[in-house]
Amino acid sequence: MSKFNRPHPSHDLRGSDAGSFDEICTKCGRTDITAGGWGRLIEPCPAEPCKVSRRVDKLWFRVACVVLSVAVIFVVLGKVI
Ligand SMILES: [Zn+2]
Repeated sequence: MSKFNRPHPSHDLRGSDAGSFDEICTKCGRTDITAGGWGRLIEPCPAEPCKVSRRVDKLWFRVACVVLSVAVIFVVLGKVI
């Protein structure tokens, strides 16, 4: 297995003795492929609450934008006055 072919770290993998797969993600239920391959586990775990963190990132981005805008306004006002 090449180093580019690894399961995404967001999955919570658990070993399994099922015949059709060796590892299963306890969060999203995706499984690897016994034949040698991580299947859809290579993609990020859809059960991972990354949407929330993305929203928080967006919020911080907005806050940063507002702060920057206010700072620019103050600098401009400071120059005018
Ligand atoms: Zn998963």
